[in-house]
Amino acid sequence: MTPQLIDPFARAITYLRVSVTDRCDFRCVYCMAENMTFLPKKELLTLEELDRMCSAFIGLGVEKLRITGGEPLVRKGIMTFFNSMTRHLESGTLKELTLTTNGSQLERFADDLYAAGVRRVNISLDTLDEDKFARVTRWGRLPQVLRGIDAAQRAGLRVKINAVALKGFNEDELFDLVRWCAGRDMDLTFIEVMPMGDLGNEDRVGQYWSLDDVRARLSEQYRLTDLAERSGGPARYVRLDETGQKIGFITPLSHNFCESCNRVRMTCTGELFMCLGQEDMADLRPALRNHPNDDAPLIEAIHGAIGRKPKGHDFDYSRQRADGQVSRHMSHTGG
Ligand code: SAM
Ligand code: SF4
Repeated sequence: MTPQLIDPFARAITYLRVSVTDRCDFRCVYCMAENMTFLPKKELLTLEELDRMCSAFIGLGVEKLRITGGEPLVRKGIMTFFNSMTRHLESGTLKELTLTTNGSQLERFADDLYAAGVRRVNISLDTLDEDKFARVTRWGRLPQVLRGIDAAQRAGLRVKINAVALKGFNEDELFDLVRWCAGRDMDLTFIEVMPMGDLGNEDRVGQYWSLDDVRARLSEQYRLTDLAERSGGPARYVRLDETGQKIGFITPLSHNFCESCNRVRMTCTGELFMCLGQEDMADLRPALRNHPNDDAPLIEAIHGAIGRKPKGHDFDYSRQRADGQVSRHMSHTGG
């Protein structure tokens, strides 16, 4: 399909990430406050509205849909939504349906996700140490997540582990994580911690561990081959020659790859963020709700929003401050 959503910098928008809930069963320290206030349920798009929104984007050339949150698998009835998206995979208009999850509910849902057409899943895991896991997620339990990862692999889902690189927290586990993923045939991506949400007492600059350093440390033990592969996001990949494993680096801080950005993000209330790192958004919900039987106003609103997509974000730690910080929590926009 010819992409129909072209932004002012001639980038084709073919990738939509959708947060289906702001709620979560964990409280990761870099993502949420422990006493988070969540949106009233009536604010959320219903499952039918989520379907209509996503279908409108797919009709406009979006080929990849990533479901996220909050924790997407705690949204009630979420499999109904996944199952309804299967029709777009079957028609060939949607090329990939996937999700990012903390893994806590995968034991229950892995088979159903595979049956709905999901083939790959990103699972967030920062540490293999049970105590550290409990500390960083506050409410999470590692064995439950490990069972979820087992279930995903058994179901036939290809698993990629996402680990936030945190100075003084998982630095000492770098090689353990790499070996553990290699042993289970899983790719691994490191993410630089971003200045999202209410920093409160959190020392985000102090937590920041540059992936340049991660890469340098890896190259002390492995030969790294740069891969040309691009996902249109801020990730770059290398292959470890010794294990054949793919390692990704998501570096919104130390390197900015906005020029090839192909994505937009929708919140669970129907706000469209054209850039993760900027405050500007378009509220698509009125166009959807005020015209229940006519998608034309929604399509017009989507075009208007894409026409405002900024060139890039302004995150910057180089002055030892969390510059470019945005006040939204990651769980709101959807990571
Ligand atoms: N709950 C799901 C999960 O944890 O995978 C999906 C939503 S979560 C917001 C998506 C990703 O964002 C996770 O990999 C998480 O580690 C990452 N994330 C959250 N807050 C972040 C921050 N401040 N900086 C960088 N990554 C962050
Ligand atoms: Fe929940 Fe994911 Fe945020 Fe952790 S990173 S609190 S699992 S939404």
